[in-house]
This record gives sequence, structure tokens and C-alpha cells, in this order.
Amino acid sequence: MGKATGFMEYNRQTFKERSPAERTKDWNDYSVPLSEQEVQEQGARCMDCGVPTCQSGMEIDRTTTGCPVYHLIPEWNDLVYRGQWKEALRREHVMNNFPEFTGLACPAPCESACVLGINEPPVAIRTIERSIIERGFAEGWVIPEPPKTRTGKKVAVIGSGPAGLAAAAQLNKAGHLVTVFERSDRVGGLLTYGIPEMKLSYDVVKRRVDILEQEGITFQTNTEVGKNYPVSALRSDFDAVIMCTGATVHRDIKVEGRELKGVEYAMDFLHTSTKSLLDSNLEDGNFISAEGKDVIVIGGGDTGTDCLATAVRQNCKSLVQFDVYDKKGAIRDEVGNPWPQYPQIHRVEYGQKEAAAVFGEDPRAYAVMTKKFVGDEDGNVKEVHTVNVKLKIDEQGNRIREEIPGTEKVWKADLVLLAIGFSGPQQHLIQQLNVETEANSTVKAEYGKYTTNVEGVFAAGDMRRGQSLIVWAINEGREAARECDRFLMGETILP
Ligand SMILES: Cc1cc2nc3c(=O)[nH]c(=O)nc-3n(C[C@H](O)[C@H](O)[C@H](O)COP(=O)(O)OP(=O)(O)OC[C@H]3O[C@@H](n4cnc5c(N)ncnc54)[C@H](O)[C@@H]3O)c2cc1C
Repeated sequence: MGKATGFMEYNRQTFKERSPAERTKDWNDYSVPLSEQEVQEQGARCMDCGVPTCQSGMEIDRTTTGCPVYHLIPEWNDLVYRGQWKEALRREHVMNNFPEFTGLACPAPCESACVLGINEPPVAIRTIERSIIERGFAEGWVIPEPPKTRTGKKVAVIGSGPAGLAAAAQLNKAGHLVTVFERSDRVGGLLTYGIPEMKLSYDVVKRRVDILEQEGITFQTNTEVGKNYPVSALRSDFDAVIMCTGATVHRDIKVEGRELKGVEYAMDFLHTSTKSLLDSNLEDGNFISAEGKDVIVIGGGDTGTDCLATAVRQNCKSLVQFDVYDKKGAIRDEVGNPWPQYPQIHRVEYGQKEAAAVFGEDPRAYAVMTKKFVGDEDGNVKEVHTVNVKLKIDEQGNRIREEIPGTEKVWKADLVLLAIGFSGPQQHLIQQLNVETEANSTVKAEYGKYTTNVEGVFAAGDMRRGQSLIVWAINEGREAARECDRFLMGETILP
């Protein structure tokens, strides 16, 4: 159980960060690992508290609490404290196929559910998780482990994001022959073409995919099922199908001037930037460029933050981020948002730190609603008109935003990035497979079962749950593989 007095002896320490001003000059990882001893001390802070809420993933009030993959957190914390890194790695892989992805980019709802966090800073679980897996790769402990026997069953996984990769890894372990179809030129889904390089690099994704390939999984990129690979072939070539195609239909903003040039979806900006960076170090010019532009990012979430960090590296001229919500408080509301819920507090993420380092202040403007875009004579956006809003509950109990008179403002802009979320999965494949959907357009398949109305077709990840987190995608991919294995074999060996 770590060290009995560990939490009293050692302060919480997470991965350090390179200086924001310095790191914006490159696209490398912005974090700096801790030393072996520092990580062991962090492991020593875990009390193995008996009811470890950290590892019991659930949703409370629509936010994630604890770890959705039920990571064996207290076990590997203790093993790290004792210096048993190889065993810690083995225990880490029991519940999570890809601790390197979550170790880099998970918002760590395990930490906000850590019992120590009730009255002390919580255990630095994500830092320990990442340190274990990076040590594992550095030592050569992470090696391909192909199954000893094959079942002769073939499974198609559509989509190579974290849900598809987790499903493929688990089905391959069970001995099935797995082909992963991916419409993009590179695997990884939003790990590759959503989250930017400095937060989660393609090398990290490729390193794992190489191992999966050596374990016997086939990856077929540039193949869009339902377009250049027919659904009929899918049904005849495979015994089962797991759909993991994500939820990437953009939410749009319907205001005057939306059609102007320079009003772009954040995902088009992020995708083209990463693709060009990986293809040519941004020399091919095939990306939406922020260079020399006044950039406005509409949306205060993770995608917006990634846009800030990308625009700053592309040498934009100025940078503003609109958040329609009020600025949150520095400490959580103990009544409305108590432990172990994820704390709804003001955070300064890596992109905002970088924008502040380059332009001198935090880029965010709060409680701002966009009213219209105005263009020049060539149809290029040149202004964004806004008004401040306050949240009100109307007589029917609906949350509405009321405009505050006199707060109208005009902002100069050459590039506007819409980072306001996603409305659901793309429908063409779903329709071709005759799969039923929920009212919100996600695929109808019960959590824990993942079966759709079409026999032998399963669904997992964002396309079933709606836009969510890497860790939920891994959880759903693993569990869908278990149910698929049960369907194929009549019983299952998968957790
Ligand atoms: C910009 C951004 C930043 C994010 N940052 C974080 C973060 O820091 N931490 C976090 O936990 N979560 C983050 N998320 C959310 C997280 O990335 C997603 O929840 C997760 O990737 C969902 O995984 P998935 O496998 O369900 O889908 P996706 O990752 O979307 O993968 C779906 C894949 O299916 C492919 N595909 C679609 N249709 C077809 C077809 N017909 N044939 C073949 N292939 C197809 C797509 O090309 C894609 O590669 C972020 C999301 C975005 C957009």
C-alpha cells in the first residue's frame, strides 16, 4: 500500500512542463518526465484506501468520475513505490491496452476521485501511469505477444481510433483474425488527427500500432467502408463487425456571414495542420494557415485549446478564445459539485498558457455569444460581432442565454475557428448497414452489450456514446470485443 506516511512526507508532483514561450517554437511534447525517484515518491503517496473510488468509473451528473477502464491503480502505485517497474507495467496492461494514450491526454477523473484528494492534493496517478509505460518501452519490455492459437474467425473493425484499436487488440488476443479499416491515410482516429503533436504525437500511436501489427492485426488505411470497400463484402468476408467510426459531424453556428471565407471548422484546421506537419513539416502548404492572422477560436473546450496551441505555433498575429460560459471559480462548489465528482473549476490548459506567454494575457473572453460575421468585398471574414450573455432559467425550467444590452463588441478577425463540438456520427455507413440509431443520431446499442439491431454488428466508442474521452473509447472497445467474442464462440475469455 505504498508508504504509510508517504502522503505526509511527499508533496504531489506531476510531469513538469517546458517553458510555454520556448515550446511554442516547436511541435515536440510540451511535458518533461520526472526522475525515477520522483515517480517512486508519488507512488508512495497512495494509501490503497480500501474503497478506491479512483478505479470505479461512472458518470455522475454527466461527468466522468473514477477510471472507466477500472485501472488497477493502487496496485501499480505500490509496485512503483517498491521499484518493481516491470510488474507495475504488467498490472497496468491488465485493464488498459494503451496506458500511453491515457497517460498523455486523459483528463484523469481518477485523480479527482482519489480519496487523498478530499483534504490533500490527490495522488499524481496519470504521471505515474505514463512513467510506467514509458519505462516499459525504454526497457524493451513492451513486446508483441501474438495469440498461441487462432480460432479461424474473422472480425472487421471499422475505424482505428482508441475504440477500434482496443477492440482489435482484445479480439486478436482471443485468437480471431482482425482487420482494421481506416478511411484516413494514418491510423489513430482523433489521437492522430485531432489531438495535436505536442500533446500526443503520432510516433506514440505508431509505436503501439507497430506492435499490434506484429501481433497479427491487419490495418487497411485509405479504406472507407461503405465507399471504397462495399458493405456487402464486409458481410461476406467477416464473421462479425465492430463499428468504431467516431462522432465527427461538426456542430455548426447558424449566424449571418457563416459562409465567409476564413470561417472554418476547428477539426479541419487541426487535421490539415497535423497532416501537413507529418507529411512535409508544413512545407507542402496543404493546411489552413493561421500565420500572420488575427485568429478567433469559438469554443472553450479541449478542441479550442488545441486550436490555440496550433495557431500560436503557426505564428498567428493575435489570438482570442470565446467561451459562452462565465469564468468558473477557483475552488469547487462543495454542495453542487462535491468530491468525488470532476471539479468544475477554472483551469489554465497548455494552449492558454502558451497564448499568454506569446501575447501577454490569457486569450479567453467569457460569456460571449457570436451574433454575426462580417466580410470584406472579396468574401473574406474581417469581423466577428458579439454580445455578452447571462444564463437564466425560464418558466419551463429551460436554461436560456439572455443578451446583456450595451455589451455588443466588434472583433477583428482573418481566421475564425469553430470549436463548438460535434452533433453525432456520420450516417452513411450506419444507413448502409441498416443499423438503428437513437434520437440524437448515435448508434442504438446498450452500454455493456454493444449489440446493434443487426446480428453480428457491434458498435463502440464515440459513435455509440457520443463525443467523449479516450478512456471511455478504450473501455467500450474492450467490452465490445468481449461481447463479440461471446457471439462468435458462445462464451468468452475476455474481461
Ligand atoms: C480536438 C480534440 C481533442 C481531444 N482531446 C482529448 C483529450 O485530450 N483527452 C481525451 O480523453 N479525449 C480527447 N478528445 C476526445 C477523444 O479523442 C475521442 O473521444 C476518442 O478519440 C473517440 O475514439 P473513437 O475510437 O470512438 O473515435 P475516433 O477517434 O473519432 O476514431 C474514429 C475513426 O473511424 C474512422 N472512420 C470513420 N468512418 C469510417 C469508415 N466508413 N470506414 C473506415 N474508417 C472510418 C475515422 O477516420 C477515425 O479514424 C478530443 C477530441 C477532439 C476532437
